[in-house]
Amino acid sequence: MTDLSKPPKLLPCPFCEGKAHIHREPCVEGMGYYCAVKCSKCGGKSPEKYYSNGNDCPLFYEDLRNLWNTRSVAEVRKAAFEEAATMCFGGKSVADAIDQRRKETS
Ligand SMILES: [Zn+2]
Repeated sequence: MTDLSKPPKLLPCPFCEGKAHIHREPCVEGMGYYCAVKCSKCGGKSPEKYYSNGNDCPLFYEDLRNLWNTRSVAEVRKAAFEEAATMCFGGKSVADAIDQRRKETS
């Protein structure tokens, strides 16, 4: 259950545990803003969301916070691992590399 009397919190950055804040950037046409949750320490960011002027209702910010808060440390580490492993396997994905190894050993 959501307690509406308390402002919802942003979790610390999944990369560096730094403090997160909501970052707004006006779009070029001046019709609205791009919003993302950003880490003050390392600059890590949530996916960006767009709102047109006047449409930044509480639900919009809740969505944005959820985007950030559901990005768990485990998820971020997994993505980093996949990326590093892909480089180690010469551009092949981890799944492909395992597949190949299986074929070689069977
Ligand atoms: Zn950070």
